[in-house]
Amino acid sequence: MGKVMVVGSSNTDMVVTSARMPLAGETVLGNDFSMIPGGKGANQAVAAARAGAEVAFIAKTGADDFGRKAIEDYRKDGIRTDLILTDPRVASGVAMIVVDAANGQNSIVVAPGANSYLSPQDIQGHAASIGEVEVLLVQLEIPPESVRQALEIAKAAGVRTVLNPAPAQSLDDELLSLVDIITPNESETRILTGIDPVDDAAIRRAAGLLLEQVQEAVVITLGARGVFFQDQTAPGTFIPTREVQAIDTTAAGDVFNGYLAALLADGQEFQKAIRLANEAAGISVTRKGAQPSIPYWRELAG
Ligand code: ATP
Repeated sequence: MGKVMVVGSSNTDMVVTSARMPLAGETVLGNDFSMIPGGKGANQAVAAARAGAEVAFIAKTGADDFGRKAIEDYRKDGIRTDLILTDPRVASGVAMIVVDAANGQNSIVVAPGANSYLSPQDIQGHAASIGEVEVLLVQLEIPPESVRQALEIAKAAGVRTVLNPAPAQSLDDELLSLVDIITPNESETRILTGIDPVDDAAIRRAAGLLLEQVQEAVVITLGARGVFFQDQTAPGTFIPTREVQAIDTTAAGDVFNGYLAALLADGQEFQKAIRLANEAAGISVTRKGAQPSIPYWRELAG
């Protein structure tokens, strides 16, 4: 069992389904309400834990019920939670989500709250724990200077680093040089490279550009098509995924990243790790929701 450190966001998704979306100034009666732990950092930590890795999570919550409940849920998944910081001055991160029952479209307002206060000093305080793992996994829902701090600590300690550059934003060369493996989806690839990955040639060109900036490999996730993988040793290759009946793709990317980090930490060969991460993400899109849809290792056919 390999060790994975996730440094990232923790949110609570508050979801209401409504027969129609309210207009500005209007009140409508919705249907069911549900409260589901979310945030890219948390989703990826849960996915890595369900893949069988020993996972520690560095995040920040407020001293409120949302934060406490989220931490309780991470603990149930066997995640090490003693590195999660609590700031009584701010609220825990929440996402208010209204789903239109007619077409499944959603409108979301995210209040990042405590996630925005996870500082480079906070990360530095946990440097020793970061140095103990095989793989560090980070995303971009916490301040960029904190992402950089985590990457710097990991690189200095010889820890392999994975950046899932989501949500999409441009990144400087210095930050990218601290990354071993980058895992953008199609829109993140477009923002990072200026190349729209519309066909095979464009995907190969974009991956080539990114490979010049990171240390080891580029993994572009392509939804139902699977992924494109390129490392420093061989020409790039498309790794397809099994066809499934997708009903909700929420957190598919998070499942892929958590599984990939866990399998690499376990010493699996890269392309095999990608095939298994594809399979896990494929299972998650056949189920509703984010964390509840994340499969356990025993559910994979392999
Ligand atoms: P999301 O934002 O919905 O969480 P994403 O845009 O970050 O996802 P995608 O590239 O859409 O990431 O999907 C990530 C991985 O999930 C894919 O590489 C694939 O393994 C799996 N996947 C996504 N959609 C499907 C699908 N319709 N059928 C099978 N597998 C899928």
